[in-house]
Amino acid sequence: MRYYSARNKNEQAVAFAQAALTGLAPDGGLFVPETLPEYPQAVKTSLPAMSFHDIAFETIKPFVQGEIPDAVLEDIIHDAFNFDAPLAAVGDRYVLELFHGPTAAFKDFGARFMARAFSYFRRNEDKPLRILVATSGDTGGAVADGFFGVDGISVTVLYPTGRVSPIQERQIAGLGKNVSAFAVEGSFDDCQRLVKAAFADEGLKKRMVLSSANSINIARLIPQTVYYATGAARAMAETGKPAIFCVPSGNFGNLTAGLYAHEMGAPIRHFVAATNINKTVPDYLENGVYEPRASLPTISNAMDVGAPSNFERMTVHWSLKQLCETLTGVSISDETTRETIKSVHSRYGRFLDPHTAVGWAALDALKFAGKITSADAPFGTLATAHPAKFAEIVEPLTGAIPVPPSLQKVMDRDVSAETIPADVSALIESL
Ligand SMILES: *Cc1c(COP(=O)(O)O)cnc(C)c1O
Repeated sequence: MRYYSARNKNEQAVAFAQAALTGLAPDGGLFVPETLPEYPQAVKTSLPAMSFHDIAFETIKPFVQGEIPDAVLEDIIHDAFNFDAPLAAVGDRYVLELFHGPTAAFKDFGARFMARAFSYFRRNEDKPLRILVATSGDTGGAVADGFFGVDGISVTVLYPTGRVSPIQERQIAGLGKNVSAFAVEGSFDDCQRLVKAAFADEGLKKRMVLSSANSINIARLIPQTVYYATGAARAMAETGKPAIFCVPSGNFGNLTAGLYAHEMGAPIRHFVAATNINKTVPDYLENGVYEPRASLPTISNAMDVGAPSNFERMTVHWSLKQLCETLTGVSISDETTRETIKSVHSRYGRFLDPHTAVGWAALDALKFAGKITSADAPFGTLATAHPAKFAEIVEPLTGAIPVPPSLQKVMDRDVSAETIPADVSALIESL
């Protein structure tokens, strides 16, 4: 499979390894596959009976064919996806639980796969690869954990000191080994500025091979198609019908992966793009005008994106008309999100994190408008994070949340970060 820039189809296409290791095309565009593959008919019919790992193999294989041998791909899949994505039935719908990985959010699927793919692509290089990331909290934890203990790669995460939660700080700065952390005396924007300046520094380039690992990397997006195929296959096995999936969305990488799974032939009937009040994409689907804007802060803050990067990927593959056929946009307020967390807990004893609650509320809104009825089952929402990660928002509405073992382990770690001023030379000297 070849990959080209979403901004210019005529620019030279590159192999998966190059798209993954460089992250962005030279013109600044996101990489997209030149075609979206389709499952062979035999795979399509047997999906409902296949295991998570077998579905993962069939899903990722066409995207990396010729670059990652089958046996290596199998090893990467077993190692990266060492946790499940169960489909739970709650009330009238499904919840696809994507929070059973080490950082308790769906980003573990992408980050863990990407880390192992990078390690394979760098297997014959003697200089270690150094990943530099700036984080406002969540991405840094998933990337640090994804690369933790992976051969030939080290990770340095920059985070704004005092501005991440205690769990997030331990996920970033509690690992050690090949993961190091800098607590920057400044804001997230300062962290990003330092990383950009480090990438541009000629002296540093001579000393080490630098790469980034941010969320727009195609090697993070492709593995996310896997849980859509698996979730849909399991819903099909239980109900005999293709599913409607609601996706709590911010940068729209997750939803784009879902659209890929749909295009490949996973049994999915329709998607709901659920956003908080940052509703650039729902507005686009409604009136056909794409208007990126500044983001507004909400309680589902991993979705506070006003100019979603993956939008350019979506529009490369599909016209507005095609998107409208596959996708319904819904925007949900913080007030409704809170009410949803409360009512779902009191009705079903189920804790939803604020992002998942946006997805749940979006389905409710469509039911209320008569656009989804019980005849449309199966339908459900992706659960993008474990509620205990957002305890300070959820617990006042529900009472105490049982902490899962993965997060308990994180809380027991010691923080070990080097504090640096928001100054480029300080960073470069410390690397
Ligand atoms: C990143 C994130 C999202 C948004 O996903 P996108 O791929 O950016 O649309 C939603 N929920 C949680 C918990 C996240 O961490």
